[in-house]
Amino acid sequence: MRCIPVWNRCNNKCAMCSNPPDYHRFGKYDLASLKARINRIKAGETEIYLTGGEPSLSPALLPLLAHIRKRLPRARIMMDTNGRMFSYPAFAAGCAALGNIEFQVSLCGHTPAAHDGVTRTPGSFKQALAGIKNLLALKGAGIDVEVRFVLTRLSLGNLDGVYRLVSGSLQGIKSLVFIFMEMEGHAGVNLKSVGLTYGQARGPVEKFFSRLEGARGKAPFELKLYHFPLCTLPQGLWKYAWRTLPRKEVSFPAVCSRCAVKKYCLGVHKDYLRHFGAAGFVPLASAPRLKLSPNVCHPIIGVTGEKCP
Ligand code: SF4
Repeated sequence: MRCIPVWNRCNNKCAMCSNPPDYHRFGKYDLASLKARINRIKAGETEIYLTGGEPSLSPALLPLLAHIRKRLPRARIMMDTNGRMFSYPAFAAGCAALGNIEFQVSLCGHTPAAHDGVTRTPGSFKQALAGIKNLLALKGAGIDVEVRFVLTRLSLGNLDGVYRLVSGSLQGIKSLVFIFMEMEGHAGVNLKSVGLTYGQARGPVEKFFSRLEGARGKAPFELKLYHFPLCTLPQGLWKYAWRTLPRKEVSFPAVCSRCAVKKYCLGVHKDYLRHFGAAGFVPLASAPRLKLSPNVCHPIIGVTGEKCP
């Protein structure tokens, strides 16, 4: 997968944004520069990941999408977005028209107060929700919508609310991803208000999945957990854990050398260790019986004999 930042500004001011506060001052984002970056990607590349800032704000986005499709006709395009621009139906349709594209839209809460409280941008919830609905209406062959919810101190209490909103009002999404926050950029600056430890997250995450698998049955979309080292989760939830952080951003504390599941574990974001230390990570003396997949990003698909949690 190739990751291409396409714009260095955003129309939200999310308290847990992992981009640095001076991000808008750097980089070249005109169409010619972006095309040159695409032209350097080898022809067989299968996934292009567009990020920002907010990529949908780039004035070059539509011609850039057309260029990607022409240059890399089989590549799946993924776009990390706050969803707001897609509340304009013609813009949503223009982006989806190229096909083979997945929109990964951030929801920061399940109500205007919860969402806009995190984005610090009044009206952002209304637009994000309208954007997701517009994209879902365009859903067709190769067009998918994923919803992403970042867990911070501000949002941890809204797991159930976000699930209810997504399963009730956003039918047709491909997946709902709960992402443990990264402690860098604005998030590092705002650590006192948004900072979260794995110890604080574990109980609410465990309770959410326990209630889900108990009362509600199977979710009507895929559920994923990103940025969780295995020992921060009950074994019953390991099947949801994905390894998605770049290798250069993670580290294994010294205790991990004694851990029986290290080869399946994401490791720990370096900035988390810098802020909170390694005390919460406990090596497993022996591995449970695991059901494994060949996907290195999602190596564990089950733990034999374990119930959730
Ligand atoms: S002890 Fe280290 S390797 Fe083992 S699960 Fe925890 S973070 Fe991963």
